[in-house]
Amino acid sequence: MNRQSAPSFDYVIVGAGTAGCVLANRLSADPSRTVCLLEAGPSDRSIFIRMPAALTIPIESKVYNWGYASEPEPHLNGRRIGQARGRCLGGSSSINGMVFVRGNPRDFDQWRRFGIDGWDFADCLPYFKKLETFHGHGSDLRGRDGPVSVIESKADHVFYQRFLDAAGQFGLPRAADYNGAEQEGAHVTQATIRDGARCSAADAYLRPVLHKPNLTIIKDALVTRVVFDGRRAIGVEYETRGEIRAALAETETVLSSGTIGSPQILMLSGVGAADHLNALDIAVVADVPGVGENLQDHVVAPLRYRSDKPVSVSRDLTMVGRARLGLQWLVSKRGLGASNFFEVGAFFKSEGADYVNLQHEFLPFLADFQDGKVVLGDGFQYFVSQMRPKSRGRIRLKSADPKDKPAIHFNYLSDPHDLREMLDGIGLTREMARQRAWDEFRAEELEPGPDVDSDTSVIAWLRQSANTEHHPAGTCRMGADPLAVTDGQGRVHGVDRLRVVDGSIMPLVPTANINAPIFMLAEKIADAMTA
Ligand SMILES: Cc1cc2nc3c(=O)[nH]c(=O)nc-3n(C[C@H](O)[C@H](O)[C@H](O)COP(=O)(O)OP(=O)(O)OC[C@H]3O[C@@H](n4cnc5c(N)ncnc54)[C@H](O)[C@@H]3O)c2cc1C
Repeated sequence: MNRQSAPSFDYVIVGAGTAGCVLANRLSADPSRTVCLLEAGPSDRSIFIRMPAALTIPIESKVYNWGYASEPEPHLNGRRIGQARGRCLGGSSSINGMVFVRGNPRDFDQWRRFGIDGWDFADCLPYFKKLETFHGHGSDLRGRDGPVSVIESKADHVFYQRFLDAAGQFGLPRAADYNGAEQEGAHVTQATIRDGARCSAADAYLRPVLHKPNLTIIKDALVTRVVFDGRRAIGVEYETRGEIRAALAETETVLSSGTIGSPQILMLSGVGAADHLNALDIAVVADVPGVGENLQDHVVAPLRYRSDKPVSVSRDLTMVGRARLGLQWLVSKRGLGASNFFEVGAFFKSEGADYVNLQHEFLPFLADFQDGKVVLGDGFQYFVSQMRPKSRGRIRLKSADPKDKPAIHFNYLSDPHDLREMLDGIGLTREMARQRAWDEFRAEELEPGPDVDSDTSVIAWLRQSANTEHHPAGTCRMGADPLAVTDGQGRVHGVDRLRVVDGSIMPLVPTANINAPIFMLAEKIADAMTA
């Protein structure tokens, strides 16, 4: 690779995911600035990415998903937990569940305790508004002309209505807009969908600027390391079709490679805990011990109820039903094909919590993985998640080879606080499912099942059943302490001209599905970079 002949840009951005697409758009807004966006994966031009109801197909794909798995999880019976991550234009926003949640205002206020300024909710709100066009009823807390289209689901299936009724009978109020004044309550879910199709980061931020001569997008480019001149980042090396190339950055190199990708590239480049890098014979550029630490994720447990009435949405998802809904969607972008199926949900609190600490997502059918296939059934499922985990994990390299997937240790449920909150969440969910709104449709509880009726047995079930909600965050967190990786603007400590902007810089995972908060933080940092 001849660095002398490598193309040079003002900014090189690594990763065309949620954050990378925002940055590519905002940084290229000034035609005098040149921007290069590198993405390891291919284009996102696939009907299965675009059609909301097809959401499991890109997740199961080996093309669009990195397909990570954790190391054996010590508190989940040694199970390896699969971790999907998007690998194409749009990144994880091209394979996610499209649920749109800002988070609780108090989440962002807490980031101050890491010694960073400017992340109170009042500072974040203008960017939450800037990023969205909200098509539902909402107050002036909502944005009306931003790139990301956010719709309110229809929620017209009888199970969605029963979910909301059961929550009301339990005593959980209805949240008119959980992304507005009050998060607590049962709600109709908002989703990143535009005209019946997924609205990913690539749809919202990249497609509108593809024609710009000052924006270069390079797909199928696996970035292998940041190139340094001393401690100054001057660009990256990447591999494409068996060749090693470079892209140089005059102003800054920005890693937007996600919670797994960004710490991996930093460590491969010599930025990380010196002892770990030394052990792998990677020359240390900066000893930044927090790289890869502080890994957090939302853990989720599925409570499944069989129904003996033939009304659940699974009836529409037979082979013939799927063909019909696919055709209808192709012709009109309407019908079940335009749904992500997560059309209702709730945020609620266990006893003693300061503010909402538990989430429900809900499916109006049963879906079970058997022999690698999804088997559907009559019934409904509550997914309960604990929102502010105290358990922490880490990401470490397995080798100095950029193609080796890193070792991911989530340490799910290692903190007793998290276990307690999940137990509370399961207990409260069972109470909601017992409400009379469900009497007409609920047959037996399949999971955890009636025999799982003590704390001990629920804990045993949880260790065998808990999974990821796919919200890993925090591995390059912002802060001013020795374990912080970046400052409050994503600038990496110990080196110059290198930033990380993506889910990895969040100090704490918010009370949210985290796509919206990542859009927000990228908008906010882009604004500071272009000021
Ligand atoms: C299955 C699934 C369901 C989800 N459901 C929801 C949901 O319903 N709602 C919600 O809010 N959130 C959801 N999320 C989470 C959310 O989508 C992600 O947290 C968010 O998109 C992450 O944004 P990011 O910018 O940090 O990283 P990503 O969007 O993951 O982007 C990182 C990009 O960097 C690229 N990259 C990585 N390494 C390299 C390299 N070495 N060289 C070049 N490129 C590289 C990747 O290919 C990727 O395109 C879900 C996630 C998944 C996977």
